[in-house]
Amino acid sequence: MLNLILFGPPGSGKGTQAAKLVDEYQLLHISTGDLFRYEMGNNTPLGLEAKSYIEKGELVPDSVTIGMLRNKVEANPDVMGYIFDGFPRTETQAEALNTLLAELGEELTVLLALDVDDEEIISRILERGKTSGRPDDNDESIIRNRIEVYNRETAPVFDYYDSFGKSEKIDGIGTIEEIFDRLVATIQTRI
Ligand code: ADP
Repeated sequence: MLNLILFGPPGSGKGTQAAKLVDEYQLLHISTGDLFRYEMGNNTPLGLEAKSYIEKGELVPDSVTIGMLRNKVEANPDVMGYIFDGFPRTETQAEALNTLLAELGEELTVLLALDVDDEEIISRILERGKTSGRPDDNDESIIRNRIEVYNRETAPVFDYYDSFGKSEKIDGIGTIEEIFDRLVATIQTRI
């Protein structure tokens, strides 16, 4: 199996590139942000809990996020591989993912980190906010908080996988096709 983490700050293009990688490699795309939005849209207890964090630009607690992710993986065992998007966002989540993959007799192939600077990210998210309908994309102070949370809690996940030789940084500036080509070229060196 090919098991990828698509990593990078909010607005770095993970969702766009994940959709293209799914087509290229027939992977199951698991986006924790999408899973939370689905739950929120249905007003489930999980959705209501997640909403209270998401609307402030905070992370949903690890126990909630890890449980949801585990359910999604366990419900889809017969796949060519997984592409994790927006997960793991903390070292605790990274350790939980390692355990889960090991239980399946699998391991991570590579973490691909899209590298985009803060000002570019803020302008992209505000642009996306005009059509995404996401309240967390429309308020610059919430966006800045998401970036701070990313730098404080999520960026260390890159170093965590780097210590196993599994992290790759990808230039996230360019056209969608250029960035996709960089991702594919890097994946090919790992399989
Ligand atoms: P983006 O990458 O554009 O910030 P996502 O759609 O990945 O957006 O996530 C939206 C929000 O959902 C995050 O700001 C966070 O509050 C919550 N969230 C998503 N994934 C996780 C996760 N792995 N752990 C904790 N919270 C998460």
